[in-house]
Amino acid sequence: MERLLEECRPAAGQGKVADYIPELSKGDPEALGIYVIGSEGKRSWAGDCRQVFTIQSVVKPILLLQALMDNGAEFVMSRVGVEATGKPFDAINFSDQSLDSGNINPMVNMGAIVMCSLIHGRSYDERFQRLLELTRRLAGGEIGVDQAVYRSEKSHGSKNRALAYLLKSNGLLDGDVEEVLDCYFRACSIQVDCRALAHIGAVLSNRGRLPASNERIFPAAMSRYVNAILMTCGMYDGSGEFALRVGVPAKSGVGGGIMAVVPTRMGIGIFGPALDRKGNSVAGIRLLERLSAELHLSIF
Ligand code: GLU
Repeated sequence: MERLLEECRPAAGQGKVADYIPELSKGDPEALGIYVIGSEGKRSWAGDCRQVFTIQSVVKPILLLQALMDNGAEFVMSRVGVEATGKPFDAINFSDQSLDSGNINPMVNMGAIVMCSLIHGRSYDERFQRLLELTRRLAGGEIGVDQAVYRSEKSHGSKNRALAYLLKSNGLLDGDVEEVLDCYFRACSIQVDCRALAHIGAVLSNRGRLPASNERIFPAAMSRYVNAILMTCGMYDGSGEFALRVGVPAKSGVGGGIMAVVPTRMGIGIFGPALDRKGNSVAGIRLLERLSAELHLSIF
């Protein structure tokens, strides 16, 4: 893994660290790390895998899981569809007439914002705390929230506000828009490292059970729901190419993280903050592609 990682590191030169909020642009473009957890609990790692970064869109499958656990699949499906949009994650690619719950999915911002509104709790703070607790259990350890990134997300979140108000005006979002958005911004600002992402991926690969202890966190049917959507929509509008090059369900985030799920075999956590134009880690995808070829990871 160390050899593959060093071979892939120069690819970061083709990418750019996210700068849509000032706080994220401070990332080191050269960083690259990987951590792997097998379904029996075996661990391996290489590179900058101890660096802490914000989860960003990799929280979307966890928001979906919490919404599924609280409401069941039928209800969630009735509120947000499962088809790929083929558009960037924050695109406003709908006219008022075509903005329909069936045209969004939980891996784009609109769908993830709706997921925040579906989480149960008396207040939005309680909803976020429940999400954070689920994230901790899935990640197998303590995690915090990056307050500077949270403030930056909140004060530069005009596009997400536009998306949320569009949902609201079309009757697709219940609750107070600013409160729902606050939960979404906090969710994006959860801090993780490669190990945490690998652990979350291992639970999804293990059909809802923790690696090693086998304790069940969520029903197997929910991992099928989440993994299927990750396969078709997890890598933004680069999901088709990723399916060809790597061939496993995965979710990326603009913080440079990728969480990959190799069903029944392993979870993989990647950190590489230099992103391609679609928002995916350039060196991270290259590394997953090489690993997939060597270990025959593609599910196809
Ligand atoms: N906080 C980011 C946003 O909502 C997350 C984007 C991402 O990682 O794709 O714009």
